[in-house]
Amino acid sequence: GDHRDLHLSLRRQRQMCIRDSHNGKHPCIGATDVFPIVPISGISELECIDLSRSIGKRVGDELNIPVYLYEKSAEHLLRKDLSKIREGGYKGLNKKMKKLSIYTILLTFISSLTIAAEVNIFNARHYKADAELYSKFTNKTGIKVNLINGKAGALEKRMIEEGADSSADLYITADAGRCGAFKAKGMTQGGLISPAIKAAVPSNFRTNHWTGIAKRARIVYYAPDRVSGAELSGLTYESLADPKWKGRLVIRASGNIYNKSLVASLVKNNGKKATADWAKGVVANMARTPTGNDRAQIMAVAAGEADIAVANTYYLALMLSGNKGAEQQAAAKKVKAFFPNQNDRGTHMNISCAALVKGAPNKSNAIKLVEFLLTPEAQEHFTNNTFEFPMIDGVSPSPLVVNNIGLDFKQDLKTKVSSYGAKQADALEVMTAAGWK
Ligand code: FE
Repeated sequence: GDHRDLHLSLRRQRQMCIRDSHNGKHPCIGATDVFPIVPISGISELECIDLSRSIGKRVGDELNIPVYLYEKSAEHLLRKDLSKIREGGYKGLNKKMKKLSIYTILLTFISSLTIAAEVNIFNARHYKADAELYSKFTNKTGIKVNLINGKAGALEKRMIEEGADSSADLYITADAGRCGAFKAKGMTQGGLISPAIKAAVPSNFRTNHWTGIAKRARIVYYAPDRVSGAELSGLTYESLADPKWKGRLVIRASGNIYNKSLVASLVKNNGKKATADWAKGVVANMARTPTGNDRAQIMAVAAGEADIAVANTYYLALMLSGNKGAEQQAAAKKVKAFFPNQNDRGTHMNISCAALVKGAPNKSNAIKLVEFLLTPEAQEHFTNNTFEFPMIDGVSPSPLVVNNIGLDFKQDLKTKVSSYGAKQADALEVMTAAGWK
């Protein structure tokens, strides 16, 4: 039925409830006790879980009834088992309330009904356009894609807590450092490999637990009126620590995954000691305490607060597209792109990645989906909507990228992107020790 019917019914039950006199085999613990949400047809289990969460939030917010999500909806393993929650009934609740907030229980349980071919994606990429892409996959294969969108941290937390019960098949997110760290937590499994994946993705951009599906470079943007060609000549990430940039550099905070991965690549190439010294030099050169996202760094150069900024390639194109407003579009026109390390290993590359989640219930469908994401059709969709570089050969980036950033640069294909996760802790350590906020 309608959400509003449920809401009304809960309100009535709350008014009518006589809580102290209820006993029996399943002692209720509140006005409503259990509200089951069961996928029967036309809705997936994951959609039911999402529904239970949104109803639970509304009940909590508007009726002021503590809500407890259990079984498949549980947000914590300790709150999964219903009998544990009901233990002691209403009379025992007082004591238990100190530990748990329980009053109403919302339930989603596994339907024994047959589930059609499907694949469950936990998606941390914030691109609306990706959903269109997944429906193309469904049209082609008949495999339904259940998309759970969220921030990387929240999705990872949920998969970790759900453990073996998680319905997640694929985790799609930005940055090899994130996929690598998730693998290091034991949350992924091998087998994300097939002749199609091998043929599409160069080996430095994949492991058999996760693979790149699009590329980006982390580059330098500069103000052409304040930075000379001579100053830029031969610029490397390493030389960002050169005192000639004192007070002229902006880059975001050390906690940002793109920076952790960039610095991890420096640890991998130059060692931890050298990178620790480098980080001190970079901090000494900062025009301000790190603040804002990548686009904010480009804005700072455009506004004259700094002469050079470090940011990913697709952000300049995104700003130029006008999708982020006229102010950012104008700012983007004031800076120029520069690719560091052209005379040695090449510019730092990163990926959007898809990881095969441990215990994935639809493993073969997950592999099929990744293979689809690596077809020219899907790659074109990425390049046109997210302004990333394609993972595969033979597909052109967006004209905004080609014309304003360029293609003719040497990529670092030597440093395996799996080292970004492996060296992540070292990277954060050296940045923190240098006072990099
Ligand atoms: Fe980004």
